[in-house]
Amino acid sequence: MAYDVCIIGTGPAGLSAAINFKLHNKSVLWFGSKDMSLKVEKSEKIANYPGIPYVGGKELNEKFMAHAEEMGLEITDKLVTNISPMGSSFMLLADNEVYEAKALLLAIGSFTAKSMPGEEEYLGRGVSYCATCDGFLYKGKTIAVHLGAEKYEHEAVYLAEIADKVYLSAGYKDCKVDLPNVEKLATPIGKINGEMKVSGIETVKGEARDVDGVFILRNAVAPSMLINGLELEGPHIVVDRKMQTNIAGCYAAGDCTGRPYQITKAVGEGNIAAHSILEYLAELDKQ
Ligand SMILES: Cc1cc2nc3c(=O)[nH]c(=O)nc-3n(C[C@H](O)[C@H](O)[C@H](O)COP(=O)(O)OP(=O)(O)OC[C@H]3O[C@@H](n4cnc5c(N)ncnc54)[C@H](O)[C@@H]3O)c2cc1C
Repeated sequence: MAYDVCIIGTGPAGLSAAINFKLHNKSVLWFGSKDMSLKVEKSEKIANYPGIPYVGGKELNEKFMAHAEEMGLEITDKLVTNISPMGSSFMLLADNEVYEAKALLLAIGSFTAKSMPGEEEYLGRGVSYCATCDGFLYKGKTIAVHLGAEKYEHEAVYLAEIADKVYLSAGYKDCKVDLPNVEKLATPIGKINGEMKVSGIETVKGEARDVDGVFILRNAVAPSMLINGLELEGPHIVVDRKMQTNIAGCYAAGDCTGRPYQITKAVGEGNIAAHSILEYLAELDKQ
């Protein structure tokens, strides 16, 4: 079944849109974290959110969660790794499952992680974002795994059960993965090498290792890798005043469209995008 709309991102932009879709009885597939927005939670005090002066970030994030729950909005806690436009709908890949939606809202926040040299080039040719989807391909082989957050440690353990040897790099302190076939790299992976497919990695200090594949497990995927042909300006998604991107049926809102990185802007853009998508769906229905 194709959902009316898929929202990627459970920050204030995604929530603002989700509320509006619910009010308009649209079927919504909503991807992101069940804890909503880590960024909102990290804000100490928010002085400029109208009506709730100096609200704590944790408190506001909890209010967001409560609002979503009260509206009966469900979150699919999965990372979307690929989107393909297919005629008048979009096919989305998340955790090895395929979903379909007529319209798409990217509310994915700002992408701060730098992609590695070779990451884009070898994606699907030895580079993977999904342990569950591609892990089995590396039975008995040698792989490198980059962990962007502690919550992916269990995926590194899963990969170590399949592969013969794992070179591990973590983008945070105190990585707890400790297995006989896992070698922690002293410095992070700086480069992915290969020809037709991945053949090795180099750390930022130039240490080289031969590997058959590289798993990059982060909280987010660069917009350029998520959907082919999406127009960007630097790290930001280019949108018009209706929050429409250059791809028909694909809209974007919040930090991912540019500065200022502010909750009120995210909420406002999520609202505009939702109304534009409602118009778009109405037009689709007429066709
Ligand atoms: C320390 C700090 C303090 C701040 N203080 C303030 C302040 O005082 N006032 C203010 O207005 N703003 C503040 N901000 C900025 C504010 O938090 C952001 O502007 C706001 O959260 C942006 O909302 P968003 O919905 O665009 O994105 P985010 O809140 O970043 O949410 C994006 C969501 O998308 C999800 N996501 C991304 N990619 C994928 C994918 N491929 N699949 C599934 N899910 C995905 C993420 O997991 C996340 O849940 C602060 C930010 C920080 C970090």
